[in-house]
Amino acid sequence: MPRPLLATIDIEAMRCNLAVVRAYTPHAKIWAVVKANAYGHGLMRGLRGFEVADGLGLVEFDGAVRLREMGWTKPILMLEGFYDPSDLVTAAQYQFDISVHCAEQVEMLEKIPLSSSMNIHLQMNSGMNRLGFSVDSYRLMHQRVRAIPTVRTITLMTHFSNADRMKHSRLSVAEQTLCFQRGADSLGGEVSLSNSGAILLHPELATDWVRPGIMLYGATPGTKTAQEFGLQPTMTLTSRVMAIQEIAVGDSVGYGSRFVADKRMRIGVVACGYADGYPRHAPDGTPVVVDGIRTRLVGTVSMDMMAVDLTAVPAAHVGSGVTLWGIGLPIDDVANAAGTIGYELMCALAARVSVVER
Ligand SMILES: *Cc1c(COP(=O)(O)O)cnc(C)c1O
Repeated sequence: MPRPLLATIDIEAMRCNLAVVRAYTPHAKIWAVVKANAYGHGLMRGLRGFEVADGLGLVEFDGAVRLREMGWTKPILMLEGFYDPSDLVTAAQYQFDISVHCAEQVEMLEKIPLSSSMNIHLQMNSGMNRLGFSVDSYRLMHQRVRAIPTVRTITLMTHFSNADRMKHSRLSVAEQTLCFQRGADSLGGEVSLSNSGAILLHPELATDWVRPGIMLYGATPGTKTAQEFGLQPTMTLTSRVMAIQEIAVGDSVGYGSRFVADKRMRIGVVACGYADGYPRHAPDGTPVVVDGIRTRLVGTVSMDMMAVDLTAVPAAHVGSGVTLWGIGLPIDDVANAAGTIGYELMCALAARVSVVER
């Protein structure tokens, strides 16, 4: 028997979430973002779940080639561009659109003869200070790229630091948008700005292209819950209780004896640990659902197991069903309690976890 830990992927929910993006931004074309193995869901499932998207965006060249091999003929966008000259050859061969964000990439583009023309997404650094050309150098870089004979179209692109907030004291979406407008002023071409946070909280910014990731997977970067945005969970992680311990006042649970009982209680040992992708730093109190009842993690998560408080679930027994996140327990709730974000939980799903489709 395999371990009872199972990740169930709901392709239909992925399709519904894509429809939510369409509803928020009816006039924009959609790059469905499938980097990091479609946020842990599997690249092929990303392709199936988002087959009506206008394009797929990712950062891994091997994954992008696989998408072509799996039959994806619509656009593919390399969100971080290319890492070395051989990637450029691959991009031309497989017709990937590529983001260009630094002068070194422009030089490579100028030097390397390509077999076919290419669409470029020219990234501006509008304040995040991660990728992209400064506001002041953007126009010059645009001219240089436009002069390259193999460049077909240039899309104007930037990325927001704080799209998950309405306002931000350091760098708001509004400030970044102003920067972008200043740097890209009167340059022609399509515009690509919004990630999930911007789509959900600033839908008026949706331009020619939007680039949703996390919302397609039923989690949010933002203030409201996924359910309030009409998003459905796409990954549900379930397991079972594999042992039960009865403990007395003063007894402790797990490595480091972090949790100490202040009453007699039953503890359920669940088959799921940090080697499965569950965050080891999750504190006591992180929500876990047992037999449909919400209870809490107690004690430090081990490699293959974790312990839960069964006080609220007196009927729980060895074999009781456990939900770690997904349907019945929003991944954002677990992430919030564990001091992380839904993105990290999904992406960290370990290879040893069996994956099935709903
Ligand atoms: C990952 C990524 C996205 C998607 O972001 P979400 O917050 O998951 O919607 C969009 N644009 C770029 C450039 C990215 O790297």
